[in-house]
Amino acid sequence: MSYMTELESRAAIGVHAEWKVRLREMISAGYRDDAIAESLAESRCACSISLEDPQCRILHAQFHAAAEQIWELAVSGKRREALDHMAPGTQFAMSLSALGRALRDASR
Ligand SMILES: [Zn+2]
Repeated sequence: MSYMTELESRAAIGVHAEWKVRLREMISAGYRDDAIAESLAESRCACSISLEDPQCRILHAQFHAAAEQIWELAVSGKRREALDHMAPGTQFAMSLSALGRALRDASR
């Protein structure tokens, strides 16, 4: 049984990957972009509604929780620490790649 179409799955992966890039650019360059914060909370993410697969929902929540933590670090001036929390092997990075896999599986 498939929980979502391949197009929905790709769109959700794309949204989060792009958001990650924008967040990292913001932190690296040292500015604050509140448009990025609009989709920071899981409840405000456009993908939340379409995620029916239980595993996707869990990983999605983990990703957003990690993202919120990084945002807090970034806006309180702890840019180095914020970037460290985005590095490979962190909860942020691992939940994002696991979410990508789960989204692809959910569309099969
Ligand atoms: Zn999301």
